Amino acid sequence: MDSDRVANEDPTTTLIDRFGRVHTDLRISVTDRCNFRCQYCMPEEGLEWLERSELLSFEEIERTARVLVENAGVRSIRLTGGEPTVRARLPLLVEKLAKLDVEISMTTNGATLPLIADDLYKAGLTRINISLDTLDADRFHELTRRQDLDKVLEGIDAAVAAGFNPVKLNAVLMRGINHDEVLDFLRLGRERGVIVRFIEFMPLDAQGDWSADRVVGYDEILEIVSSEYSFEPVTRGSSPAERFVYTDGEGEFGIIASVNEPFCGSCDRIRLTADGQLRNCLFGLDHLDVRKMLRGGASDADLVSAVAGEVDRKWAGHAIGQVHFLRPSKSMSQLGG
Ligand code: SAM
Ligand code: SF4
Repeated sequence: MDSDRVANEDPTTTLIDRFGRVHTDLRISVTDRCNFRCQYCMPEEGLEWLERSELLSFEEIERTARVLVENAGVRSIRLTGGEPTVRARLPLLVEKLAKLDVEISMTTNGATLPLIADDLYKAGLTRINISLDTLDADRFHELTRRQDLDKVLEGIDAAVAAGFNPVKLNAVLMRGINHDEVLDFLRLGRERGVIVRFIEFMPLDAQGDWSADRVVGYDEILEIVSSEYSFEPVTRGSSPAERFVYTDGEGEFGIIASVNEPFCGSCDRIRLTADGQLRNCLFGLDHLDVRKMLRGGASDADLVSAVAGEVDRKWAGHAIGQVHFLRPSKSMSQLGG
C-alpha cells in the first residue's frame, strides 16, 4: 500500500482514490458519432463508427448509472459524445436517468437543440453546456466543416426558452484561429443570458496539431476581458471553471484552464465511453471493460468493486507540458469530452 494512501472511512464514498479524491461525477458518452467534424476533434472522412451492437444500450447505461448512484456515491451525470443529440430517442434515456434523482446534464454542439431542447427539459435534463468556438460564419465552417452557425445560435435561444438555467456556452480558444473573439463571446453571453466559459486547448486533437503556443492562457484571457469589462472573482467551488462576475451585475463568465492550471488535484470525474469502457482520466491509457461485465452477468457488487478498483488506480495528474506526458491515442469525441 502507498504510504500516502488515504483510508476510505465513509462507505457511501466508494470511489475514492489513493490521493483521497472522491469521485461523484459520471460522464457518459452515448455515441461516438457526430453531425460536425470539428478540426481538433475528428478527421473529415475515413471515420470508423462503432457498430450498434458495440454501443451500450439504454438499459445498460441506466443500470451502470443506477449501480454507481445507489452504491458508489455518484451524484451527477453528464451526457456527452460524440454528439449526444444524434443518438436516437435521447429524451427517453434522460427520462430513465432522471429517476435516479441526481443532477443530469449534457454537453452538446447545440445544432439540434431547436428540435429537442423542450423534450430534453421535460424529460428531466437539468443543465446544458453548448460548445461554440466562433461567431463568424466562415470560421465556423472552417472549424466544424459544417454551415450550421445559425442553428447553434438558435439552439442557444431554444435552450434558454425551454427553461434551462443557467445555459453555459463553452469556447475553446486557439491562438491564430479565434482568440480575437473573446469580447464578442462575452457580448453574446450578456445579451442572451448565458454564461460563457473559455477553455484552454488541450492536446487531445484528432490531427495532432496541438502545440503549447496555440493555447490562449488564463492571464491573457483576463487581460482581454479587462479591456472592456470590470469583473471580480467568485470563490471557486468544485467546478473546474474559475468564475468571475461582472461588477455591473450583468452575469458572469468563466475560464477552464485545463492546461495551465489543471484541476487534477480536485478531479471528481470518471468516464464511460459509448462502447462501455470506464476511464478514470481523459489522458489515462487504461480502461475497465464495463460492457463485458454487463454482458457477462456481473452482479451489482462486482461492478462497484471493479469501478472502485479502476478509480483507485487513477494517477495524480495529466502532466501536459512535461517530458513524460503521453498523448492519449483517442480524441475527445471517443473519450467523451
Ligand atoms: N459534441 C459535443 C460538443 O461538442 O459539445 C460533446 C462532445 S465534445 C468532444 C465535448 C467538448 O470537448 C466540446 O466542448 C469540445 O469543444 C471539447 N474539445 C474537443 N477537443 C478538444 C481539445 N483538443 N481541447 C479542448 N477541448 C476540446
Ligand atoms: Fe462533434 Fe463535439 Fe467533436 Fe465537434 S467537438 S466534432 S461537435 S464531438
